[in-house]
Amino acid sequence: MAVEDPPVLAYIGLGANLANPEEQVRRAIAELDQVSASQLRQVSPLYLTAPLGPVAQPDYINAVAALETRLAPAALLAALQALEDRHGRDRTGVRWGPRTLDLDLLLYGQAVIAAPGLRVPHPELARRAFVLVPLADLAPADLAIPGLGRLSELLAACPREGLRPLRASVPLAATVPAPVAC
Ligand code: ADP
Ligand code: MG
Repeated sequence: MAVEDPPVLAYIGLGANLANPEEQVRRAIAELDQVSASQLRQVSPLYLTAPLGPVAQPDYINAVAALETRLAPAALLAALQALEDRHGRDRTGVRWGPRTLDLDLLLYGQAVIAAPGLRVPHPELARRAFVLVPLADLAPADLAIPGLGRLSELLAACPREGLRPLRASVPLAATVPAPVAC
């Protein structure tokens, strides 16, 4: 398996709206720390968000995690999809339909990737408040999003409607630094 040296900081978007979504997201956060050659660094608070997409469906729980990884991007995506599968992700429904767990590779350091099955930065990143707001809980405001601008600029241009914090931040193991607000 390809291994990056030095490790890369990747940001992962988490979402769930079926089968106890808060529990799905909390479990997934713990499981991210178990991904090979990777360590969970930070997790945003959880947010409750109104669904987007073509079908009526329950509200989502969303969060963003910072993962330091030595996996190459394709291997990391494969690990994320394996985690989605473990949560019973059904891929037969409509795109953007309800799901037990969605894990998106939002950013992989400053990489720009345009492969058929993997685009980084995630193509929807700039349009989704439920990604930008929790990302800004973790990342510096002046973080460069390759090809798109600074995080603060994307955030300012994106309406925050349909999103509210669920409650206080997710407790993490003592070894993981607490989330930093920007
Ligand atoms: P979305 O996450 O946009 O709501 P899906 O989860 O249904 O939509 O999309 C899954 C597909 O998106 C997968 O086939 C995967 O290969 C592809 N994909 C492309 N780029 C990424 C990325 N950066 N992170 C996660 N999946 C991606
Ligand atoms: Mg996805």
